[in-house]
Amino acid sequence: MTSNEIRKQFLDFFASKGHHIVPSAPIVVKDDPTLMFINSGMAPFKDYFLGNKPAPYKRIADTQKCLRVSGKHNDLEEVGYDTYHHTMFEMLGNWSFGDYFKKDALHWAWELLTEVYKLPKDRLYVSVFGGDPSENLERDMEAFELWKGILGSEERILFGSKKDNFWEMGDTGPCGPCSEIHIDLRSEEEVAKTPGKDLVNNDHPQVVEIWNNVFMEFNRLQDGSLVKLPAQHVDTGMGFERLCMAIEGKQSNYDTSVFQPLIQFISDAADIKYGENEKTDIATRVIADHIRTLSFAIADGQLPSNNKAGYVIRRILRRAVRYAFTFLNFKKPFFYSIVPTLADQMASVFPELKQQQSFVMRVIEEEEIAFLRTLENGLKRLDTLEEKFKQNGNVIDGKTAFELYDTFGFPLDLTALIAREKGLTVDEAGFNVEMEQQKNRSRNASVSEQSDWVIVNDEAETEFIGYDHETTETRMLRYRKV
Ligand code: ATP
Ligand code: MG
Ligand code: MG
Ligand code: MG
Repeated sequence: MTSNEIRKQFLDFFASKGHHIVPSAPIVVKDDPTLMFINSGMAPFKDYFLGNKPAPYKRIADTQKCLRVSGKHNDLEEVGYDTYHHTMFEMLGNWSFGDYFKKDALHWAWELLTEVYKLPKDRLYVSVFGGDPSENLERDMEAFELWKGILGSEERILFGSKKDNFWEMGDTGPCGPCSEIHIDLRSEEEVAKTPGKDLVNNDHPQVVEIWNNVFMEFNRLQDGSLVKLPAQHVDTGMGFERLCMAIEGKQSNYDTSVFQPLIQFISDAADIKYGENEKTDIATRVIADHIRTLSFAIADGQLPSNNKAGYVIRRILRRAVRYAFTFLNFKKPFFYSIVPTLADQMASVFPELKQQQSFVMRVIEEEEIAFLRTLENGLKRLDTLEEKFKQNGNVIDGKTAFELYDTFGFPLDLTALIAREKGLTVDEAGFNVEMEQQKNRSRNASVSEQSDWVIVNDEAETEFIGYDHETTETRMLRYRKV
């Protein structure tokens, strides 16, 4: 089954259960001051849950383009290093607005996964909310009993924490317990060594969460108390790329038919073989991931710029250029040339990309040209100062490293790599001191999303607080098990 078929089967299944299928909302949010990008399937339906607008249908299903690069959900730093978090991904979802509740939602989820997609039952685990006495929240025994009925035993049911199994929109508003489904994709040999149950929610790359079923049961009031909502809702979200990994029998989202065309294109252009070298693999994954974010965001109307959402997009492009430049030796604009491959692949489900292909390509190419130029200027600056560094004990001082980073957009690991080529080292501690000072200056940055919706200060501009300053080497250590 190809990824396009997998997506279609999800929609067909929920259509057969009386759901109205709607297209994805644009990934860019223009009319909501509290959210820059759609970060979950339910975000476009917020008004229905809040009761601000009546839902046009009681049952809806769709695939929603999501972006998790800022605020409460920020997966950017995982991307490329792990194999199942993306910046842009599709969230498949089914919704009940005051219609069916836990029983149907859980039965259908199980039916779809095991009877339609034929995923092995003995590799699936489910979690239900385990309660939180400190907040007076009870265990979700209703979901527990339902699962017990569906699975025939308690063996594969876990009780989860508030963090993983209780959803809240913000400090007040709709909230409720959720029930997640996880899959163990390890080899038989590995499974024999450690039970999958022990690895759920443990950052294991082959034991991953695929589906979250949220039950909006309560409304949290200003005083913190919970009251039952007059109408109860279901909000589910399944990571499409992870589902494809499970169904296609792969160990990584990047090995699926969703990502392979991009991975192939990039590795051909870089003249490398994917899967042979950890550094070039990471760079390839970063580029395959980021080109999707860039293309969809631009097609949906968010151009790269120097502030707010535009800056988020610019940073993602620069992050990708950094990896391409440093590890794959791309010194000329290249990302824009990947767009047609992506647009063709997505044409049947997201035609907006194909329709705007040449525009998207032009925007990306111009950004690449501009950043590659500053990269070159930064390199020249390094050359000019080389004598000084040599006299300084072959060290690039922290202030200069920070200037390169701040003014030229040079990430520290790029500076470190160039330093190494010149027989120099970088004063990382000095750099970090400068970075801390910069962070303190921008701590009052305008956007500080902490929950699903927060108020954005429209007056202030988002300040450049820079790239992650962890080096590739230290990140690799952190992700050694991948
Ligand atoms: P995780 O614990 O793996 O970070 P999550 O609990 O943050 O996932 P939810 O907010 O519950 O995710 O979103 C619903 C589903 O969306 C998840 O079960 C997962 O399949 C998928 N998903 C979440 N974040 C990502 C991501 N960054 N890339 C790809 N899929 C994702
Ligand atoms: Mg997450
Ligand atoms: Mg989770
Ligand atoms: Mg979850």
